[in-house]
Amino acid sequence: MTNPIWFDPSLCLIAGDWVPATGGDTLPLINPSDGSELARIARGTGADIDRAVSAAQSALSGDWGGMSALERGRILTRLGQLVLERVEDLAQLEAADVGKPLTQARADAVALARYCEFYGGAADKVMGETIPYLEGYTVYTLREPHGVTGHIVPWNYPMQIIGRSVGAALAMGNACVLKPAEEACLTALAFAHLAQEAGVPTGALNVIPGLGAEAGAALSAHPGIHHISFTGSVATGALVQAAAARNVVPVTLELGGKSPQLVFEDADLDAALPFLVNAGIQNAGQTCSASSRILVQRGVYDTVRARMSEAYARLTVGPAIQDLRVGPLISPRQKQIVEGFLAQGADLPIAGQGQLLQTAPATGAYVIPTLFADVPPDHRLARDEIFGPVQVLIPFDTEEDAIRIANGTDYGLVASIWTSNGARQMRLAKRLRAGQVFINNYGAGGGVELPFGGVGKSGHGREKGFEALYGFSTLKTVAAHHG
Ligand code: NAD
Repeated sequence: MTNPIWFDPSLCLIAGDWVPATGGDTLPLINPSDGSELARIARGTGADIDRAVSAAQSALSGDWGGMSALERGRILTRLGQLVLERVEDLAQLEAADVGKPLTQARADAVALARYCEFYGGAADKVMGETIPYLEGYTVYTLREPHGVTGHIVPWNYPMQIIGRSVGAALAMGNACVLKPAEEACLTALAFAHLAQEAGVPTGALNVIPGLGAEAGAALSAHPGIHHISFTGSVATGALVQAAAARNVVPVTLELGGKSPQLVFEDADLDAALPFLVNAGIQNAGQTCSASSRILVQRGVYDTVRARMSEAYARLTVGPAIQDLRVGPLISPRQKQIVEGFLAQGADLPIAGQGQLLQTAPATGAYVIPTLFADVPPDHRLARDEIFGPVQVLIPFDTEEDAIRIANGTDYGLVASIWTSNGARQMRLAKRLRAGQVFINNYGAGGGVELPFGGVGKSGHGREKGFEALYGFSTLKTVAAHHG
């Protein structure tokens, strides 16, 4: 394979310049399909975060801060166009870096372009209100940027998460400091190069790769940051929120999930089947909104189990570049975590398994997709986020049982209902504890236009859609007394 990297990956972007991290240290970036070293990235430090925050502050008091919403929107739209022109290049980077099968990597690049288009178009359509008040007053509201926004991004969907958070923040006129994940950084850096080409002014976007405990912790504790968008694990999200709280800074937390699909006896099973499986194994299950629990009403349980088992038998696992249904996990560490969960299922029946390509390198982080049947709702595999290609089948009898089981974890990100009963659709959509509910479909992560976020341990705040623009802005009320 030819080297997909067209830029120097060992640098940070600060104040419009590509520079080494202070101290010059670098970190290895590993290709999870075969364990080889793909590149070295900068090991950003607290000093680099300081410089990036200063650059962002300067941008706000300079060109970027003075730019009209219309012009910001045009730049983002141009950026979306550049991303579209480079979909294949970006997909190659993501496949090598994250281990994402090429088709899924291309879809992420197209989604990144779509975020830029959506927020480019929306930038000049965020309006305030006039508010009826006392006689002799005119009162109106203004939506203003927070100022400097911090963006801490994980490795599983770098392009989509950068699109939805940085895209919306730039549209509102914030200046961004982005800290990509140390495991997968290449598309973040590529995005920043394209942003410069599109005309994002100096300092409006700064990128500091590095370790979470160093660059990430420094960013979340920095007193010059006005808002933090964090996507990642519950444990790290809590640390970021605690650090931000010391500066009284608002935080959006997009954390994990244990999202259920509820299949009733009156469901269209032909329509449901592809979603039931794909929502669990897409990106090798490393999706916050993966559907890892399949709740099935007793009357169709055996049929769904048999059909999912057939679908699992057709799942092949191998290197990202071969573009199979399932690639490797991000790292040997993640593989070890998922294997630990699989061991916990030793007492459960296995209803389906995929197969590993015989030629897959032994040095790759591969895990065979596995479907467990008859899983008690209180079993660890039915409650904990696994973040691998593992799904559990749980039978239920009544609608009440289904709701109780579905709402019975600490998480609440996405849920779906498969039923042809319209009244039941409406009842369940209200009673399920989740940030998104899909009826007769499942949109794992999809839908640039759709507000997204969780309840409970899945986090708080909303990104995506128009709603994100409210999250990345603050509201000012102006009360004019004119008599
Ligand atoms: P993680 O929390 O370990 O890392 C996420 C990011 O936080 C990385 O950039 C990392 O460098 C940084 N980080 C680590 N320690 C930090 C610290 N002390 N201070 C500040 N930043 C720090 O998570 P992960 O293992 O990379 O990602 C997997 C998790 O992310 C899963 O739990 C998954 O559900 C969640 N996730 C959620 C969404 C969502 O939209 N809800 C999307 C993707 C992933």
